[in-house]
Amino acid sequence: MFSRRTFLGAIGSVIASEYSRSVTVLAQASNTFSADPFQLGVASGDPAWDGFVLWTRLAPDPLRGDEGLANPIHVRWEVATDESMHHVVKRGQIAAVSELGHSVHVEVSGLKPGRKYFYRFHAGGATSPIGRTKTAPALRSQQDSTKFAFISCQHYENGYYNVHREIAQDDLDVVLFLGDYMYEHHTKNSVRRHRLDSPSTLDEYRRHHAQYKEDVDLQACHAAHPWLVTFDDHEVEDNWASTNPGHASPKGEDFLARRVAAFQAYYENMPLRIASLPKDNSIKIYRSLPYGQLARFTVVDTRQFRSKQPCDDGRKACAARMDAGKTMMGFEQERWFANVMRSTTAKWNTVANQVMIAQLKEMPTNGGSEPVYNMDQWDGYTAARQRLFAALAAGKPSNPVFVTGDVHQTWVGNLKPDFDVPSSPVVATELVGTSVTSGGNGQVHGQHIAEILRLNPHVVYNDARRGYFRCELTSSEMRSEERVVSSVTEKGTKAITAATFLTKDGLPGVTQVN
Ligand code: FE
Ligand code: CA
Repeated sequence: MFSRRTFLGAIGSVIASEYSRSVTVLAQASNTFSADPFQLGVASGDPAWDGFVLWTRLAPDPLRGDEGLANPIHVRWEVATDESMHHVVKRGQIAAVSELGHSVHVEVSGLKPGRKYFYRFHAGGATSPIGRTKTAPALRSQQDSTKFAFISCQHYENGYYNVHREIAQDDLDVVLFLGDYMYEHHTKNSVRRHRLDSPSTLDEYRRHHAQYKEDVDLQACHAAHPWLVTFDDHEVEDNWASTNPGHASPKGEDFLARRVAAFQAYYENMPLRIASLPKDNSIKIYRSLPYGQLARFTVVDTRQFRSKQPCDDGRKACAARMDAGKTMMGFEQERWFANVMRSTTAKWNTVANQVMIAQLKEMPTNGGSEPVYNMDQWDGYTAARQRLFAALAAGKPSNPVFVTGDVHQTWVGNLKPDFDVPSSPVVATELVGTSVTSGGNGQVHGQHIAEILRLNPHVVYNDARRGYFRCELTSSEMRSEERVVSSVTEKGTKAITAATFLTKDGLPGVTQVN
C-alpha cells in the first residue's frame, strides 16, 4: 500500500505505525482543551467497497491555529452501523500531531460494501459531532443506481453556503468537489470577510482553511456524505500552473514555497487518503475509484503538471494555443489516464475535471474580428485536448462523462474532436457546474450569451445562477439535475431543479428534457 520511505522522519513513523495498525502507545498529552477541539467538524472521503477515510482536525482555537496545542494528542475514532452509535463495528486510536496541523486521516477497511455507516471521534474528554458516510458497492456488483452531486468554487466572502445545506439533505452516494474550496484573496461585494488578507505560509493557509471549515453549512455537507475532492487554482493562488506563479504572488516571492505550504494545508484539511500526503514538493491528487460495475470516478489534476498558459494567459489567441508540446495533465498523467480509460469496465465513466474542456469561442466585446478564448481552460491546450479525445477513442470506455468546475456558470455540452466541424461526432458529455458562492448571485448576460451559444453549437445550455448538479446513474441513463438557489447573499435559500438533462447509455452526448 505505501512505503515507509515515502514519509518524512518523525511524521512518517507516527503515521506509518497508525496505518499499519500496530497500536503505538505514545505518552498521552494533556486532556484539557481550552474549548471544543472539534469546531472544524468531521468529514469522510474516497470510499472503497470496504471502507473510506475519516477526517477531523483538532482546533480548540481556530483563529490561533496550532499554537499551544500538545503534541501528540490521542484521538479515538469509532464507526457504527446506526446513527446513535450503539452498534460500533470498528474503533481505533490515532495520534494528531502538530506536523500535520493536528489533523487525522483514518483509513478504515474491512466494512461491508454499499452500506451507510456513522462515525465520530473522541479526544481529551470531548466528542465530535457524528458523521454519516457510505462505502462503494462491491466491485462485481450491479447496483441499481449511483447518485452523486458535484460542486466547485466557494469563495467565503461572496455568500452563504446554502447550497451545502441543501446537498446535506439529499440522498447521495458521494459528493465530488472540483476545485476552489477556498480563495486566497479578498473580493468585492462580500457578505462576510476572510480574517486573513492573503495567506502564503503554512500557518496562514492552515488558519485560512480553518475559517472555511468553521462554517456550519459546509460542516453539515461534509458530515452527511463522503466527498471525493480535488483542487484547482485558488487553493494555492489564482491561475498558477505547475511551478509558475499565478496572479497573487508578490514579485520575487518563492512560489514553490507557497505551493508546498498550500498543498500541505490542503491535505491536512481534506478527507484524503495517506497516498495524497504531500512529498517532494508535490501532492498526488489524480486517482480513480471503482463504484461497482455501474460507475467509476476518475479524478484528474489539471494544475500541478500543466504547461504555463499560452499567449500570456490572455484572451487573444496565438499560435502557442496549438503547440503540441503543451500539456494540461503532464505526460505521465496523460498515460495514466489513457490506461484507466482502456482498462475500465464500468458502464458510466465520470471524470472529475477542473477547467472547461469544451471549446468556448467568443467574439471580443471591443469589436475585434478574431475569436477569443480562455487560455487557462483546455482551449489554451488544444493538442492536449486532442490527446484526451484520442485516449477515449483508443480506450473506448463506456459512457464517458466529464464534470467540471471553474467558470462560475453552468454550461452543458457535447464534446467533439473538432468543435468547428458540424459533422464531427459527439464523443462524450460535459457538465460544467456553477459555483457554490463565487461571483455572488451571478448575472444573466442575455444578448452576449445568445451570441456565445450561436458560436458554440455543441453547447446546449447556460445558466448563471448558483447551485449544484445532482446526478443519477442507472443501467439505461444518466439523469442530471441542475439545482439552483435564488440567492447566496441571503441565508437559507432553498434549491429548486432548474433544468434536467439526460444522457442515454451507449449514446454520447446530452439532451435537455426539462
Ligand atoms: Fe472559482
Ligand atoms: Ca483562475
